[in-house]
Amino acid sequence: MGWVRSRKRHKQKSPSEEDDRNHKENQMNKKSLIIKADALFATFWHRHHKCCAIEGCNNPCELCHLISRGNHLFRWDPRNIINLCSWHHKNSKLLSHHGSPEAFKEWMKQNKPEQYEFWQSNKNKIGVSIPEYWYREQVEEIKSW
Ligand SMILES: [Zn+2]
Repeated sequence: MGWVRSRKRHKQKSPSEEDDRNHKENQMNKKSLIIKADALFATFWHRHHKCCAIEGCNNPCELCHLISRGNHLFRWDPRNIINLCSWHHKNSKLLSHHGSPEAFKEWMKQNKPEQYEFWQSNKNKIGVSIPEYWYREQVEEIKSW
């Protein structure tokens, strides 16, 4: 996977006109594949997760991405996603991914050690010019779950 880089070495070269056309077409295809993968993934996820992972909280859950969903490499990787209610996802100053990141990290370490490991060891990997076929494969794979 030559398109997986560590965060520091991100470089871009200037594309020719034809490259540019192909690039735009590719981007459109990718965009619709992303929408498809998101929808399939959400359906899969909610089939298996009904409420927040925090003990004692029974609020309905949403998907919380440990590594930002802007990083497509892990956007549909179940190891990168945890079911949290929106309070524990974004708002709580005591325990939430966005509202109290340090406490949340500690909670992950204690309660979801494997996912914590995955998170920490992959958070600096990014995808650069991920090929379209990879997105197609993601869609097919999620369909098969
Ligand atoms: Zn909650």
